[in-house]
Amino acid sequence: MTKQYLDLPVAPADIAFGLMTDFEADPHPKKVSMIAGAYRDENGDPWILPSVKEAKERLGEATHEYLGIAGSPTFTNLAKELIFGPIASSLQENAASIQAVSGTGANHLAATFLARYLRPKRVFIPSPTWINHKSIWEMAGVAVVEYPYYSHDTRELNVTGMLDALEHADPNDVVILQACAHNPTGVDLSKPQWTEVSNLVQRKKLFVVFDSAYQGFATGDVDGDAWVVRHFTETVLASGTHPGLCVAQSFSKNFGLYGERVGALHLVVPRHLSAQGALSELMLISRAEYSNPPQFGASIVETVLGDRGLRAQWKADLHTMSSRIQRMRGMLRQRLEKETLLDWSYIEKQIGMFSYTGLTAHQVDRLRREFHVYLLPSGRMSMCGLNEGNIDYVVCAIGEVVQGS
Ligand code: PLP
Repeated sequence: MTKQYLDLPVAPADIAFGLMTDFEADPHPKKVSMIAGAYRDENGDPWILPSVKEAKERLGEATHEYLGIAGSPTFTNLAKELIFGPIASSLQENAASIQAVSGTGANHLAATFLARYLRPKRVFIPSPTWINHKSIWEMAGVAVVEYPYYSHDTRELNVTGMLDALEHADPNDVVILQACAHNPTGVDLSKPQWTEVSNLVQRKKLFVVFDSAYQGFATGDVDGDAWVVRHFTETVLASGTHPGLCVAQSFSKNFGLYGERVGALHLVVPRHLSAQGALSELMLISRAEYSNPPQFGASIVETVLGDRGLRAQWKADLHTMSSRIQRMRGMLRQRLEKETLLDWSYIEKQIGMFSYTGLTAHQVDRLRREFHVYLLPSGRMSMCGLNEGNIDYVVCAIGEVVQGS
């Protein structure tokens, strides 16, 4: 009996982390990694944001004490203010905010909590989406349904397919929406399209979980990138019947704090309800799972967001990152069009860290085997891996695989 349990087949390796290991082991001098969603500067090196560097200096010899179960209250308040903007101050009773183990931990906490207390029949996730959405919700024991998000034919959003699929959801089913800079497609909804989704969600009483991992990366403007979260929150607050919404907020990308695991989960309930009971339950889950969240990264974020000068520097840092990526998009499009005589204009229209290139799994495989250029098999390219030193090599490689297939 015991043997049956322990004699498990080996599960498939995580695609992105597996490729990163292969890339590290690849000795080719011209190899290029466009796998991970982690910013690299124009020399291809990891970048410590100047605002973060300064915050670390100010923190000096920080202590290594435990945080409370819900994390640092200063951090969660600043995180709440960043995502909800001017409406944050009116969210006293109606919101529960808890520090989480980065964006992944916030998504997981939401799934565990909602599976237990909301008991949705199904969770609707975009097709395609960040690979972990499916795993997180499957592990929480909720049936996962994919809704159409992107059309491979038009290389644009499939908003009709999305709305049609969500019409089939039942009250209290969960819908995952990425707040901005959609991973992996780089294609977001327009404001009128978001409003249509918000009306549907309201009418069908669906519970939305916003995944906000790229605030500041879509437009370079942290308020612009949070528009949809604020819009939906206002409608939930005003509603007497809506079940509520969650925001899983990550600080990995917009602060370059990938390994520090900084995040927060916010739960908003309608005005006539209190979220304080929900907060106590979220704390029970976090206490049982990891006791209390990591301190160091949260201290950096609260130092930056809590200081006017450092906050201004951080916004400039966001601009440095997002404008470099934008410049690379322009160069990539121009050079690919020259090399292949095909239309690559969609690369420039997409936003955020990723480009959905439309390259097939076979072409991606050839890029890796023949040219040591690494992308995800879906054709997702992390724009961060491109720079002026490697773009011509990458363009030639893509030209070869596109023309040879
Ligand atoms: N959500 C989305 C859409 C992402 O793309 C990512 C990371 O790539 C995450 C959440 C989680 O990021 P982290 O756990 O590193 O904060």
